[in-house]
Amino acid sequence: MQYQDFRGERISRLGFGMMRLPVTGGDQASVDYRKVEEMFLYAVEHGINYFDTAYPYHEGESERTLGRLLDEHHLRGEVNIATKLFTLGMEKPEYDPRKMFAEQLYRLRTDHVDFYLMHGLHGDQWETLKTRFDIIPWLDSLRREGIIRHIGFSFHDELPKFKAILDDYDWEFAQIQYNYADHRIQAGDEGIAYARQKGVPLTIMEPLKGGSLIFPDYPEMDEIRRKHGLAKESFAELGLRYVLSQEGLLTVLSGMSTIGQMKENIDIVSRAETGCFTGEEQACVEEIREVLRQADAIPCTGCKYCVDGCPQNIAIPDAFRFYNEAKRYHNPASQKRGYDRSCSNLADCVECGQCEEACPQHLEIPALLKTVRAYLD
Ligand code: SF4
Ligand code: SF4
Repeated sequence: MQYQDFRGERISRLGFGMMRLPVTGGDQASVDYRKVEEMFLYAVEHGINYFDTAYPYHEGESERTLGRLLDEHHLRGEVNIATKLFTLGMEKPEYDPRKMFAEQLYRLRTDHVDFYLMHGLHGDQWETLKTRFDIIPWLDSLRREGIIRHIGFSFHDELPKFKAILDDYDWEFAQIQYNYADHRIQAGDEGIAYARQKGVPLTIMEPLKGGSLIFPDYPEMDEIRRKHGLAKESFAELGLRYVLSQEGLLTVLSGMSTIGQMKENIDIVSRAETGCFTGEEQACVEEIREVLRQADAIPCTGCKYCVDGCPQNIAIPDAFRFYNEAKRYHNPASQKRGYDRSCSNLADCVECGQCEEACPQHLEIPALLKTVRAYLD
């Protein structure tokens, strides 16, 4: 394993993202403890010391599983726990960060958290945490007492918001989504450069875009890889090496679901240093990006002009975005969860045509919604 120095500590360059753990019966709350145990012990034995979970992962079972593993194997002193304050539902009267944190300590069977993040900040969430929940003095006091050792945030919004949040508090680290397909999305390349300039190291999530950059069943991508002399390099290796090559990182998280993925990732990271990405790999990635760019199936710009007039409250741009992502990567399963959550009412379309009139791209929206349903329902 390779390590990154962080304030005098050694953090493994690969972190175990515990949001896609193996489950039984397709139930996200039924984590397969024995399989996770095998992965966890292999990870510790091979030098991984950063384990990333969050309050909602696997409906709380991710934190509980990590707590049980650390307790049963007496390994709390060997590893860093990274977990997150859930930031959805702040408008509800029962939302209480202090109570949530106490519950997290209980689930994790520990008296302190090594890396604590405000989870997935977007919109006004950081402002709300500060003003409504007076979060800064509370975090500061927990840090002073050593109950939280390092404070950071994870992020899902646009670059200006990333810079504004980064500038607004004494963060020790931040976590962003980053991979070669999304290098200009959210914080992106510019966000990495900005954080580096401020001396705030970054944890990277979705380095393989939730598995989409593995390109199952995509012969065109295989051909590109071969053309660049990279036939022996897996898509997982290409994607991870791209991210690991960046400067200013704390660790790269991989949401591993099998012991096979863990072994492969550990092997890749052991050979990937900062600056490792070669010119041929870069040329290959650029060609893959071009194919992805041209694969946009529905030319929706996401302007949302269609949304307000829809009598059925259909999330039209979301439906088209999920469809395009699924088509682009030949991977409908990767979009299923978000699609099911936001687009369960597409069948309610009454074909009134209001959206079509509003759409500057002149998209035939009701017909396209049927295409989306046929692919993703
Ligand atoms: S055609 Fe369908 S999607 Fe468009 S505004 Fe009418 S109900 Fe909504
Ligand atoms: S108005 Fe058209 S282009 Fe804009 S979000 Fe709606 S469907 Fe997409």
